[in-house]
Amino acid sequence: MSLTSLSAFEVARKVKAGELKAVDVAEAALAQIRAVDGLPGSLDGGAVSADEEKKVHAFIQVTEKMALEQAEKVDQAVARGEDAGLLAGVPISIKDIFCVEGTTTTAASRMLSNFRPPYTATPVRRLIDQGALILGKVNLDEFTFGSSNESSAYQPATNNPWNTDHVPGGSSGGSAASVAAEEVALSLGTDTGGSIRQPAAFCGVVGLKPTYGRVSRLGLIAFSSSLDCPGPLSRNTRDAALMLQAMAGVDPKDSTSSTRAVDDYLSTLGQDVKGLRIGLSPDYDAVYYPNFETGELHKEAIQKEVHETLYRSAELLAKAGAEIVENVPMPNTAYGIPAYFVISRVEAASNLHRFDGVKYGYRTESAVSNLSELYRLTRAEGFGPQVKLRILMGMYLSAAGHDADYYTHAQKVRALIRQDFVRAFEPDGDHRLDALLTPTTATTSFKRKAVFGNSLLMQYSDQMTVSSNHAGVPALTIPAGLDEAGLPIGIQLIGNDFREDLILRIGHAFEQVSRDEAWRKVRPQVLAGEVKA
Ligand code: GLN
Repeated sequence: MSLTSLSAFEVARKVKAGELKAVDVAEAALAQIRAVDGLPGSLDGGAVSADEEKKVHAFIQVTEKMALEQAEKVDQAVARGEDAGLLAGVPISIKDIFCVEGTTTTAASRMLSNFRPPYTATPVRRLIDQGALILGKVNLDEFTFGSSNESSAYQPATNNPWNTDHVPGGSSGGSAASVAAEEVALSLGTDTGGSIRQPAAFCGVVGLKPTYGRVSRLGLIAFSSSLDCPGPLSRNTRDAALMLQAMAGVDPKDSTSSTRAVDDYLSTLGQDVKGLRIGLSPDYDAVYYPNFETGELHKEAIQKEVHETLYRSAELLAKAGAEIVENVPMPNTAYGIPAYFVISRVEAASNLHRFDGVKYGYRTESAVSNLSELYRLTRAEGFGPQVKLRILMGMYLSAAGHDADYYTHAQKVRALIRQDFVRAFEPDGDHRLDALLTPTTATTSFKRKAVFGNSLLMQYSDQMTVSSNHAGVPALTIPAGLDEAGLPIGIQLIGNDFREDLILRIGHAFEQVSRDEAWRKVRPQVLAGEVKA
């Protein structure tokens, strides 16, 4: 097995045992990036050659020097007989929405194309402290607004390593693609409405949105502060558990981070699932689109192969000893996207006020005669269309006179969505679930340009993921098969507050029972047929 195919867990174990040098791991990751990634996304990157069209383009900055220096430190610590950390020598990419000292932190926007943060985000700091090697910053939808990566100001946007004519999903598309293409073992992403899980599902990797507040948001450029969660992307559940272990826990600098003690995710991972109650809900069998004329919700079935994979996966979990509980009502799932649309726009518009050309980031180069002109031109030139759309919507929805109709109303819907989960998990309720099993996405990855520009379709690709952001509960996506076109299918396990341990354990059990399935042998297109050193 080549170095870049190793799991994070194996890399750390070997590095700590002195069987592997962190510097060699860093070199192997850099070589893989050179082999598969192609041109880094840039502000003036437009049309590319046919050869470049087939590359991954996950990275917008490769931090070679930083990774090698960190690797040296790890190797020195090992040589001195010190504990080199949970992630000793593990190559990691960081979604370019986290501040990392020594890098440009762009949010994939012209607005922050020159922003060099003076500090490092808490989750990134903790990864480094545990011996991780930061290989670089990866692409995303501008300010994390999107589900395909195509809205990035940094082009070429990331492609799906399974089929480079398809999108990797978003907004953590660069994260998911860099893990799937074995450029790194782990990536740090963020999930506001599905941005870790949807791209993870599209790229055939594991993605975990932790409980709200489990991982600090300090140093994360905010989208919708009441929904944003940093979390891991990896190639298996053990690696996701390992990365969460390294990052989770209270941060005195983030008042919304939880003071609750962090569980030992690794020690419970291997326990079996006998007797655990896993729910299936008919409310996750379809996507609901509003009819704007009548206000009614129109129901559309999810992709057949996704549905079949979900039920087949439930059977496998039953075989592993879990108890499958059918027909769990989650009646407010259908309203997740409309409520998210309102809440996320209002919070985004508020968070984006700070980008005004005065304090940091882009400033218009045109001559201006007053301050408001400076603001106006800076924002007109610095933000892309998706960002402007969201600011306009957010301002409209929160304007005096609209608040009761929209924002307050959406908050009530949010409370109802949370109630669905509270009922499902209640220890003496009707269902007493340990986890809810759902599809992660209604469809597999779409072709590039096929959905971009269609706001409605793009939004609804998050229907299955957004409810857990509203409720604050943790949710994990794991690969569970391939569709007829060979594109990955993800299934999602949603847990009760702070029960990351349980959903990781169930995910791990699923990996064990499905270990010999034929789809697991299929490799992403960009890796198939490769010749490895
Ligand atoms: N796709 C969703 C959106 O466009 C979610 C993004 C996210 O989770 N950051 O808002």
